[in-house]
Amino acid sequence: MGRRTIIEPFRIKSVEPIHMTTRDERVHLLEEAGYNAFLLRAQDVLIDLLTDSGTGAMSAEQWASMMRGDESYAGARSYYRLAEVIEEIFGFRFFLPTHQGRAAERILFESTCRPGDVVPNNTHFDTTRANVEATGARAVDIPIAIARRPSAIHPFKGNMDVEALEALIAEVGAERVPLVMLTVTNNSGGGQPISMENVRAVRAVCDRHGIPLYIDACRFAENCWFIREREEGYADKTPLEIARELFSYADGMTMSAKKDGLVNIGGLLACNDESLFKSESRLLILTEGFPTYGGLAGRDLDAMATGLREVLDIDYLRYRIASTAYLGRSLTEAGVPIVQPTGGHAVYIDAAAMLPHIPAHHYPGQALVAELYLEGGIRAVEIGTVMFGATDPESGEERTAPMELVRLAIPRRVFTQSHIDYVGEVMADVHANRDTLRGLAMTWQSPPLRHFTARFARL
Ligand SMILES: *Cc1c(COP(=O)(O)O)cnc(C)c1O
Repeated sequence: MGRRTIIEPFRIKSVEPIHMTTRDERVHLLEEAGYNAFLLRAQDVLIDLLTDSGTGAMSAEQWASMMRGDESYAGARSYYRLAEVIEEIFGFRFFLPTHQGRAAERILFESTCRPGDVVPNNTHFDTTRANVEATGARAVDIPIAIARRPSAIHPFKGNMDVEALEALIAEVGAERVPLVMLTVTNNSGGGQPISMENVRAVRAVCDRHGIPLYIDACRFAENCWFIREREEGYADKTPLEIARELFSYADGMTMSAKKDGLVNIGGLLACNDESLFKSESRLLILTEGFPTYGGLAGRDLDAMATGLREVLDIDYLRYRIASTAYLGRSLTEAGVPIVQPTGGHAVYIDAAAMLPHIPAHHYPGQALVAELYLEGGIRAVEIGTVMFGATDPESGEERTAPMELVRLAIPRRVFTQSHIDYVGEVMADVHANRDTLRGLAMTWQSPPLRHFTARFARL
């Protein structure tokens, strides 16, 4: 304690080699992938920052949990271990395991939304939006105004605009709002946290209108750490105590355990409403599995139970948030414009600010993703018009996204400080040559979620 350097609170027991490529090889590989980093082979990527989802390293204790996993079809011991942990952290009356977050989303929205309904969220994640829209409902993002200004500093830039929520409910009528959702942390909005005060304020609005409040809990532990660090009255509370308070305001949650569950696969759906739980269980059985395993192996449930406890460890969270901030600081020092302050799981580069000569419909974010790969074998992801825009099938015109970001997501417990130093070095070189970058044209797409498979050509 009291030292300046925050170290990884673990040592490495098992290693996985990464494969080096030359620039000439990468030119060829990227062209073959249609300038879409999703279509590269992972083998050809040196530092993979595509996502923090399911890419983390499990602990020795989690691998031990895998061995302890009970593979009984119904009522497995692993299910009850997970149930105990969920009760302890989240406190909901009912839960269902799912194979990942989007399965929980599909079941929740299919059970609650009708065509014409409106679901407000601080910012919907891409699969969340797609699952809301698949029911014929409308997904509306209402982050606080400052969230749309990448360089503006705010301790809780993930907050929902409470007045906008009131106005939206007044406009469409409370009976058209099946639920309000808060995404913690706000992934698509820069990995920014939500304050406990904001959760309470949103809860109060929901109470006034009799609308359930749901939490998209993917990165709940990281959010709780930010509350501990930044919100008055929480510095002496444990992350677990903060999590328990956070979820006490909610009626249910969806979660991808591939983030703060510290596992490679898995998800959760929870609620307090018994009749809703029953109809959700019926949907789960149709496509996922029996309610005590939900499409997962017993060992997956067991590893998740262990991961959910480990993720709330103070030393882990201190290291996790500090290592993301470290990359943010190195990019800022190199003059790279990023979403400020640095979020929990990723650094978001403001591609619109960095490449003002590339218009949104020529995808500045995608162009930057391509350049990072060519320059250093780094894989990042565009969070801008490729991901959230759409092409009008009649006019061919492009609806652009409010921000053009590139996300460098940091897998949990995977890379060391020198890997991150390397990323900073590559990014600084790309930034120095930014005027030479050119935009891209989309040559093929398949909406929705077109970013996974779209192909591009250089302009
Ligand atoms: C990853 C993610 C999801 C979807 O989870 P999957 O496990 O990828 O299906 C939903 N919401 C947020 C905020 C996410 O980050």
